[in-house]
Amino acid sequence: MLYIFDKDGTLVHNIDGERPANTLDEQKPFDDVLPKCQALIAKGHYLAVASNQGGVAFGFMTAAQAHIMVKHIADYIGATTYAVCVTHPNGRKKAAKRESRFRKPQGGMIEYLMDAFGVLPTETVYIGDMDTDREAAEAAGVKFMWADEFFGRK
Ligand SMILES: [Mg+2]
Repeated sequence: MLYIFDKDGTLVHNIDGERPANTLDEQKPFDDVLPKCQALIAKGHYLAVASNQGGVAFGFMTAAQAHIMVKHIADYIGATTYAVCVTHPNGRKKAAKRESRFRKPQGGMIEYLMDAFGVLPTETVYIGDMDTDREAAEAAGVKFMWADEFFGRK
């Protein structure tokens, strides 16, 4: 199976439970993430991360900084690769101010990762914490699980 994870609020804490981390220093993984992901890898599953980083379009960070943060947590959980979308339709940076088929709730990042691993939608699960995550999974035709349910939180 291919397990694809949202980043903010799923693998790492949001700041004050609200906004996503804007720096690597702010980015703290949930305690339950590493043991669960290690167990999945031990069973032979593939792991990947798919993350909207619309903060780039607003100028909160550069695209390079966003990639560093996503790559950092992907490496931490033992994921093979990741996908990022930095556009936002309301962004302040002209070049990144747009919708994208890769931006959740579109399914583009999940579809790309399924092709990157050569797996079917029936072999893929997307794990996230927001309605846009559920919608992206639906758009890509894969199973969705809430992070709280997947990691046994609460
Ligand atoms: Mg999230």
